[in-house]
Amino acid sequence: MMKKRLLIANRSEIAIRIIRSAHKLGMYAIVFRSDKEQDALYLKFADEIIDAKDADDEKPIFLNQQKIVDLAVQHNIDLIHPGYGFLSENPDFAALCIANNINFIGPSPELIRDMGLKTVAKHMAVEAGLPLVPGSEGPVANAQDAKEFADKIGYPVILKASAGGGGRGMRIVEKPETIERNFKAAYDEALAAFGNGDIFIEKYLQNPKHLEFQILGDKHGNVIHLGERECSLQRKHQKIIEEAPSASVTSKMREEMGAMAVRFAQKIGYYSAGTIEYIMDEDGSYYFMEMNTRIQVEHPVTEMITGVDLVDWQIKIALDEKLTLKQEDIKINGWAIECRVNTEDPQNRFSPQTGFIDKINFPQNSSVRLETGFLSGSIVTPYFDSMIAKIIVHGADREDVINKTLNALYNFNIIGLKTTVPFCIAVLKHPDFINATYTTRWVDKVYTPDMLENEDDEVIAALAATIMYASEYLQLQGDIPAYKNDALNVWVLNKRLNY
Ligand code: ADP
Ligand code: ADP
Ligand code: MG
Repeated sequence: MMKKRLLIANRSEIAIRIIRSAHKLGMYAIVFRSDKEQDALYLKFADEIIDAKDADDEKPIFLNQQKIVDLAVQHNIDLIHPGYGFLSENPDFAALCIANNINFIGPSPELIRDMGLKTVAKHMAVEAGLPLVPGSEGPVANAQDAKEFADKIGYPVILKASAGGGGRGMRIVEKPETIERNFKAAYDEALAAFGNGDIFIEKYLQNPKHLEFQILGDKHGNVIHLGERECSLQRKHQKIIEEAPSASVTSKMREEMGAMAVRFAQKIGYYSAGTIEYIMDEDGSYYFMEMNTRIQVEHPVTEMITGVDLVDWQIKIALDEKLTLKQEDIKINGWAIECRVNTEDPQNRFSPQTGFIDKINFPQNSSVRLETGFLSGSIVTPYFDSMIAKIIVHGADREDVINKTLNALYNFNIIGLKTTVPFCIAVLKHPDFINATYTTRWVDKVYTPDMLENEDDEVIAALAATIMYASEYLQLQGDIPAYKNDALNVWVLNKRLNY
C-alpha cells in the first residue's frame, strides 16, 4: 500500500511533534519552507519540503489558505494537520481542504464554526446543562445595551469578542462611566481582528483559576475525557505554565466536570481532540468558558500523566478509526508541568527578543520531555510567535515534579536572547505556586522582576557557556562520558543557588 502523505500546515515545535506521529503511523511527513524562516529546525525532520515563498502581495504561507490547499493538491497530499494557531480553528480552511478531497485533521467545519463563536458555544453548553458565568445570553446590540446589562449584573465586567482567541479581544470594565467607550473600542477591535464585531458580557471573576478538560471523540459517537489541566499561570490572558492534574480539583469534581465535558461533546456530535475550558471562582464554583477545537500547546502534560498520544488519535480519528480507549482505561499517573520558553525579557515587561541564539543547552533526563523548534545558531524572527520551546516534566507527585522542573529549568541555558526561563524559575519557587493558590491574576498582582534570581547574568552566562563549550569539546575528544556533562550542569546549578 502507498504510504499516506500528511502535510503539516504549521511550523516550529508543533510541526516536529506532528511529524513524530506521522512517522509512527507509517506516513510521509511533508512541511512548508517559509522564506521567513529558511533554515528552521523542523525542516530537518520532514520527508519532503515544499518551498513556499510569499510574493509581496501575499499573506504569509501559514495564513494563506488557498495557497496551502493549491500546493497540497499539486503535491498529492492525503491529509493536512493544521497544528494549533490560526488555521486550526478556521472553518473555511477545513471546508476548503474537504472540498479538495484532502482529509482535514480536526472536527467538521460546522463544529469549528459553532465553537469558534463563544456565544454560540455557550448557548449549546446551556442546552447540555453546563453552568455559565453570569452574563449576556448572546451578543449585546450596542453600547447602551451593554451598559444596562452591566448595571444589572454589577461591576467589574469583562467584554469579550465572540470570535476572539489567543487571549485577544477582551476588555475589563471596572465602572459604569467607561463601559460605553470600552464597548465601542472592543467592537472596532474585534471587527478588525476577527472579522466579526459581536461582543458579549460576563461578570469579571476577580481571582479565578483556569481549568480545562481534554477530550477525545471519534466519528462513531464515542467520547472520553482525559482529566484536567490547570492553566491559571497566565500573562495577558495567555498561558505560560500549565500543570496536570490540578491541585484544586478533587476526584469528585474531576468526575463531575469530566462527565459534563463528555456530555457536551456528545451532544454536539464532536469528534477529534478538543478542550472544554472552565473558569473557577474563589468559592469553588466553576463555569463553562469555551471549547477549543484543536490540539493545544499544553497537550503534552495530559499525555505525560495518561500515557495517551493525543496527536496519534487525532490522525486515526480523521481516518475514521474507532476510539479503542474507554473512560475506565484512563488512569492518572503522577504529575506533569509544562513551562513555555518564550523569547521575552521578564526583567523588562516581557519585551520580545529577536535575533540569533548563540548557544542553547537543553535539559536532558528521563523525566523531561523537550519540544523545540530551535537550536544553537537558529534565528528567532519577528514574524512568528515568541515560543521557542516547551519543557515538560513528569514527577511522582506535585512536589517531586516542581523540584524536577526547577532542575530542568536550571539546565536550560541559552545565550544570545532573553527568555521566560528565569520567570518560570521564580514562579516555581514562589509559595503561591508551591501551595497551588495562584490564580490567573498572579502575574498582574504579585509578580515583580525583583523575584528573578539575583544573579549577575553576565557572569553566570559566561560560566555556563564556558562549561558547555568545554564539556562538548571534551566529549568530542572522547575524554568524558555524557553523564559527566550532567555533573557539570549540576555544578552550574549549585553555583547559581549559592551565588
Ligand atoms: P492554547 O489554548 O493551546 O494554549 P494559545 O492560546 O496559546 O493556545 O494559542 C495557540 C497559538 O495560536 C499561539 O501561538 C497563538 O499565538 C496563536 N493564536 C491563536 N489564535 C490567535 C488569535 N486570535 N490571536 C493571536 N494569536 C492567536
Ligand atoms: P481565548 O479564546 O482568548 O482563550 P477565553 O474565553 O478562553 O478566551 O479566556 C481567556 C482567559 O481570559 C481565561 O483563561 C481567563 O484568564 C480570562 N477570562 C475570560 N473570561 C473571564 C471572566 N469572566 N472573568 C475573569 N477572567 C476571565
Ligand atoms: Mg481560551
